Amino acid sequence: MTGFQRLEAIISVPFQVTTEGSVSIGTGKGDGLRDNLIIREAGPESKPVISGSSLKGMVRSTVEAVLAQAMPGEICVPFVCLGRDRTVPEGRKEDCGRSSRDNPCPVCRMFGNTEMAGRASFRDAHLEGDFPETTERTHVALRRDTKTAAGGALMTIETLPPGVTFSGKVVLTNPEDWMVGAVIEALELLPSIGIGAKKTSGYGEVDVDVKDVEYKFKGPGVEKKTKDHFVAEWRKLAKLT
Ligand SMILES: [Zn+2]
Repeated sequence: MTGFQRLEAIISVPFQVTTEGSVSIGTGKGDGLRDNLIIREAGPESKPVISGSSLKGMVRSTVEAVLAQAMPGEICVPFVCLGRDRTVPEGRKEDCGRSSRDNPCPVCRMFGNTEMAGRASFRDAHLEGDFPETTERTHVALRRDTKTAAGGALMTIETLPPGVTFSGKVVLTNPEDWMVGAVIEALELLPSIGIGAKKTSGYGEVDVDVKDVEYKFKGPGVEKKTKDHFVAEWRKLAKLT
């Protein structure tokens, strides 16, 4: 396995996300819209961006779910994700950051854990073109646990119109080939997952275009590979056909 001792390759996966319906913007204030990928960035203009860290969380959970099925017992569960009794679910293993430091699972190798840096870095995806006009709609707030109205509280959701495009990239340093394919396929799943809150009410439809990979750096003797090769390596590891 190649670590960070030598720089062999830096590979960028550029992508564009375009809204197809109304897509909500989260406030990032823990008001039940936390799973929203679009937030307003800090600063005077406070433009909407697709948050790199939320995107990383989404890609990580997709990769984790797929590999946990393909490789029973080999994918760890981060300690912080365990329940109160700290029981590791069947088919998973203990947090690599605490137990398998010399032999971290594929998910930790890609995304890192408390003991090691990951290979994939997710930047915020920024607006292409002008600041779009947003719309505000008011709903009755539902409590997430009981799905009942939270004391009749009203919640305002700000939405982007269709046709708004964000451009971003995921940058991988010395990746194993499957990691690049995993990023490509997880990003391509975004239209099925949706990216805003209130997905069931018809928000969150997007189209995603993952571009060809770009080599930002290629060490001597490192062979250039194509998007198809990376996806095939991921599908092999994930036992997807
Ligand atoms: Zn792990």
